[in-house]
Amino acid sequence: MIKADLHIHTTYSDDSTVTPKALVEKLAAHKSIKAAAVTDHDTVNGLKETRKLAAAYPDILIIPGVEISTPEGDILVLGAETTPPRPWTVQNVVDFARTNNYVSVVAHPYREYGMGDAARNYKFDAIEVINGESTPHANKQAHQLAKTMKLPGTAGSDAHTPAEPLTVYTEIQAGLNVDEILKAIKKGLVTTHSAARSIHF
Ligand SMILES: [Zn+2]
Repeated sequence: MIKADLHIHTTYSDDSTVTPKALVEKLAAHKSIKAAAVTDHDTVNGLKETRKLAAAYPDILIIPGVEISTPEGDILVLGAETTPPRPWTVQNVVDFARTNNYVSVVAHPYREYGMGDAARNYKFDAIEVINGESTPHANKQAHQLAKTMKLPGTAGSDAHTPAEPLTVYTEIQAGLNVDEILKAIKKGLVTTHSAARSIHF
């Protein structure tokens, strides 16, 4: 069993001040959360730098990922080491995840840049049910959406400042290994937690 923050922005997102170095040091210092997904806006360049720095620490894992901006809302693709082929329609992003055995996640469905109920029209792998930047009400709605779509929930801080990474996490029945983690999420072998707000789904 591992704990992972599945939604983090580095300075390679133009709205984040979390440097790859700060993220790696935070993971290395944390007692129980030893995995984190780098999910920058529309780029994997921050992921590459973060992984390079993380290689010095055998007990931490950087999960590849990206957050793609589509006209209908933001989508996390966990496992992705490249961006999807354009145009970035929802269908293309979902297909990209399916074809490559990545995990497509509807990011913060009930706030700005979220897909809302339109998520029901596509075959996503999971719904982000706790997002550190969303209100408790929006997270509750997301949790409800996951239930009605019978999809697993994920949790991530959506960190944009150095204090935020690892405040929200997903507990995953897997080892510290990307393939195991992606498979376990798809199977729903996950629980979601917000340390900051004491929310647990
Ligand atoms: Zn985000």
